[in-house]
Amino acid sequence: MTLKIKTLSLNDTPPTLPPNTVIPRSQQVCDDVVRLWKEEPAAEDLPIDSLYRRIIDRNQEWSISREHFLEVIKRHNLVYDENSPSSRCYDKMIEFPPCDVKQWNKEGMYEIRDCQDAQDKNGKGRGVYALKHFKKGDMIFEEKLPIVIIPPMEKLELMSKGKCCTLCGKSLYELSTHYIMMNGLDCNDCTAVWCSKNCKKMDSCRHSFLKHVNLKKRNHWYKFENFCKEKNFVAGYSVGIIYATILLNKKNRDSIKTKYESLAQVSQRIRIESSDSTNIGGTLDASSGAQSTNNDDDSGPESVWEQAYKLFKETFPTLNADEGFSLDDFLLDIGKFNINQLEGQIYHLYSFINHNCEPNIRYEIDSKLCLRVFARKPIQPGEELLTTYVNPLHGVKLRRRALKVNWGFLCQCARCENGNSQKIGIPSPPDSLTKDNVSISIPKLKITLQEGSNRRKSSMRDKRPDLTELLKNGKEFDLEIPDNLGSVRARRRTSVRFDENVSFAIEE
Ligand SMILES: [Zn+2]
Ligand SMILES: [Zn+2]
Ligand SMILES: [Zn+2]
Repeated sequence: MTLKIKTLSLNDTPPTLPPNTVIPRSQQVCDDVVRLWKEEPAAEDLPIDSLYRRIIDRNQEWSISREHFLEVIKRHNLVYDENSPSSRCYDKMIEFPPCDVKQWNKEGMYEIRDCQDAQDKNGKGRGVYALKHFKKGDMIFEEKLPIVIIPPMEKLELMSKGKCCTLCGKSLYELSTHYIMMNGLDCNDCTAVWCSKNCKKMDSCRHSFLKHVNLKKRNHWYKFENFCKEKNFVAGYSVGIIYATILLNKKNRDSIKTKYESLAQVSQRIRIESSDSTNIGGTLDASSGAQSTNNDDDSGPESVWEQAYKLFKETFPTLNADEGFSLDDFLLDIGKFNINQLEGQIYHLYSFINHNCEPNIRYEIDSKLCLRVFARKPIQPGEELLTTYVNPLHGVKLRRRALKVNWGFLCQCARCENGNSQKIGIPSPPDSLTKDNVSISIPKLKITLQEGSNRRKSSMRDKRPDLTELLKNGKEFDLEIPDNLGSVRARRRTSVRFDENVSFAIEE
């Protein structure tokens, strides 16, 4: 019989917490879990105990029990539920408004059509299909401009000071005051400056309406704009810009409106409900750099939406009179922007392209906002063009979670299905320190890529590898951790190819 020695404390006083200890809010816990997973995709495969230890390690001032931790991450959908994999999917609730697709088809090159076969159809609605053979590297199509140019919200401050183009956000340090004056690139009524005659031409009508025309309207727009800026409500601000453009652009109004109205849509309220964590560091809309609300304060999204909606209606009073524009309509627009936007803009044809974790196309957006789409691998006639909505370097769980939260579907692409069936129990650092396995710990994959020059950044995006570069040069994204960690050095498959600007460090 074995005897177990147990030490009991005779002291009745409850253990006092060390100084500076904080009890984290659920939001903080979820955010840090998601943040860890973003930094180290492999950590998403950690068993709960190890995950708990990592989080405690990262936040030594936190006081949270294992049970509470587990309860919190379960409640926020951060644990993948094997039994109901499609829970919280909202793809069936996405509406696909009618659209005269023939208008956007290019004879002999590609066409937009309904996804026909049942498997395909699964929540996908429509897709873009190749009509001819494309070689790797071939340009498939280009969109000269987004439907509406949306000035980057984070640059509003610089714009108001005339430090960057008030339409496209391009920095103006290269342009001399003399050049600006000679070319009439400045606004007569305020400090705004455009980078080119073209930008000024495209923007001057909207600019003068929103900022100058009549005092009352101007004040409304300023209030709305400032509110969105304060709450980091990119989608709200962008929808405002789109409505203003449709309202003012007499020449192209119908075409812009038709394009905008043909986009897939879903209410932001539905999206928020399936969010796995809050926006700060969370998955919802963070992957695209377009956060919907800033939950920094206690007001929550509902109150932000209501306030924004009120200011929006004051800016566009005719909307309410003619069409009975409700808060729900506004939220439909917010959701629509978020599921369709690409780097803060909406490109019409591109918005019809569906997702796959192993895409066959890649895109580039140049400094004039022209979007070009290229074949990443050979594409056969009849094949669907597929892009990736999420960072392909991430592990299957994070990819699926990001897709589920932001676009409402459970990705069942070959890569996801494959990755999910190859369950690998990765030992946490302490677990792995067994006798024969002392030197092995979790490999941290840190990837630093050269910054793109015209890319907009949000704080979350700075941590991401440059997707353009990756999609162009990466042969495949097979960075899944090999199943035998004991010989990780010899057998690691680093099949993503990088160019010389990329450092790829494996810390052990
Ligand atoms: Zn410009
Ligand atoms: Zn002005
Ligand atoms: Zn997938």
